[in-house]
Amino acid sequence: MTVKDQKKVLSEKAKRVAPSATLAITAKAKALKEQGIPVINFAGGEPDWDTPEIVKEEAVRAMKEGFTKYTPSAGIPSLKKAICKKLEQENGITVAPEQVIVSSGAKQSIYNAILALVDPGDELLLPAPYWVSYPEMVGLADGMTVTLGTTEEAGFKITATQLAKSVTKKSKVLLLNSPSNPTGAVYSRGELELIGEIVLENDLYVISDEIYDRLYYNAEGAPSIAAISKDLADRTIIINGASKSYSMTGWRIGFAAGPKEIIAAMGRIQDQTTSCASSISQRAAVVAFERGKQFANDLRVEYHKRRDLMLAEIEKVPGWSCYPPEGAFFCFANISKTGKDAETLANELLEKHHIAVIPGTSFGAPYHLRLSFCVSQEIIREGFERIRG
Ligand code: PLP
Repeated sequence: MTVKDQKKVLSEKAKRVAPSATLAITAKAKALKEQGIPVINFAGGEPDWDTPEIVKEEAVRAMKEGFTKYTPSAGIPSLKKAICKKLEQENGITVAPEQVIVSSGAKQSIYNAILALVDPGDELLLPAPYWVSYPEMVGLADGMTVTLGTTEEAGFKITATQLAKSVTKKSKVLLLNSPSNPTGAVYSRGELELIGEIVLENDLYVISDEIYDRLYYNAEGAPSIAAISKDLADRTIIINGASKSYSMTGWRIGFAAGPKEIIAAMGRIQDQTTSCASSISQRAAVVAFERGKQFANDLRVEYHKRRDLMLAEIEKVPGWSCYPPEGAFFCFANISKTGKDAETLANELLEKHHIAVIPGTSFGAPYHLRLSFCVSQEIIREGFERIRG
């Protein structure tokens, strides 16, 4: 199809969707690797550990038992029950199984939540820097993304006052992502309480993406806004899943939990578009949520060490600095003092030093680089030796 044909054939929506911003650099890194060049990958977005053995064994058992057909579209009862227990024990949130929907990855739940809440012209308030997929999803729903800029000095977090000032008559949803990809910012309970007051005063709904909730490097952990009060729980859709905590990115199990009517609407959308998540992965995820706590804890302990190491290494690079991430698995390094922008530096790092990083431009931060510590401590050390030349 020629470019001219594409203009005629593709819908306006399809034309509007931006290609994945992280793709260009990863494609380049892959091409170098294929030429036999040992590229160090600080661009990854998934844990390097393998999925726990007990989870894999359950998947094999499920297959051998013939558990290979459609399941209820909102998820199998045992998984919904395990999710309710997880939310109660780890997040202090009580929900009934009908308030939970299982999806093919957290991403699908976020999209369904946006489709269920956002009408054309509605505003979704989004703290920046943000995960790249959110505005694209809002665009597909014909909604408007209103970004709320944050600063490194403020720990990359919005304040309640800032939120209050940003609300208009069209504001419908606040999207929170704590711990954050890409900044690692984690909102404290006190901060969420203040933000929560503005949410209630302005009749907003909250989509709370908590996919990194088990990966925190502070004493308090990563609290959920839904745990603050019943009033906030009644207007929050929690998003989470098995991908990051249990190294299960390829199994595609995510979930949403929230008000019954909204979850039911998301269920109808899912029914008509994708049906259930993989039956085998659902069985495996029951084991992850019920018996994977030690694994998730070990992952957090190891990633905490890597995070400390990477932070120390960043500080040794002239012109680089980094606000310490309190969660997730990225360092969001400030490179403004190098005199180069993120795109230029990311390309230079790849071409000269064979280090893949993601330029912050994709997240709305043109003078930051996102470096993932989903690689061993040895690789982190080697990578920074290369960077320092
Ligand atoms: N939310 C955030 C903030 C993420 O970083 C990611 C993955 O990179 C997701 C959601 C998607 O998770 P899943 O792989 O379960 O769809």
